[in-house]
Amino acid sequence: MIFADLELKINTKSGNEILLLKREPEEYKKTVLVIGVFHGDEPDGEYLINRFLSERTDTKNRLLFIPCLNPDGKQNNTRTNANGVDLNRNFPTKNWEPQKKDAKDEYFGGEKPASELETQFLIYIIEKYVPDLIITLHEPYSIVNYDGPAVEEAQKISEITGYPIQESIGYPTPGSFGTFCGIEKEIPTITLELPEKSDKEILWNKVKGIFTYISESY
Ligand SMILES: [Zn+2]
Repeated sequence: MIFADLELKINTKSGNEILLLKREPEEYKKTVLVIGVFHGDEPDGEYLINRFLSERTDTKNRLLFIPCLNPDGKQNNTRTNANGVDLNRNFPTKNWEPQKKDAKDEYFGGEKPASELETQFLIYIIEKYVPDLIITLHEPYSIVNYDGPAVEEAQKISEITGYPIQESIGYPTPGSFGTFCGIEKEIPTITLELPEKSDKEILWNKVKGIFTYISESY
């Protein structure tokens, strides 16, 4: 049982659904968007979101959740979507560049910026709901990466999880969501890298404070 309102849903190329769920108090000042499974082979974000939503809790902020942005990739256990595109390289940033598509290129950014339905859906949501903070849940580095004016939020999440802050992931990421939202739109954007293949109970206990933070104290 999920305690949230279904706000929007779309169907993917392979016929899977992408959901936007919402918890909205009557009055609120801030909106926080949390996104799981940007990459299909990184499933734990969806688990954490659904775990949080399986309990009724109060929130002072409007909370939006996309538990699984890339259900086709999840179905195939691939980083990319059904078109072989890395969604985290498909955003229309100034540094977007066409990349060669090799047989096994898991970082292919698409034929053009925002070519993918998943990318378009997320851009639509950001323009419609204008979040004050966005958290994307990835794996497997156990770090808190951030883009845009998110240093305080990154510090808080680092304190909660014990994962260190890393400002740059160490390699160029043209067309990334962090560049698009954080650097270019100046929306505080956290890329939380969860550990690889963690025990779900241990993981939940490690990160559940983030949900308390975005519900109660952010
Ligand atoms: Zn990822």
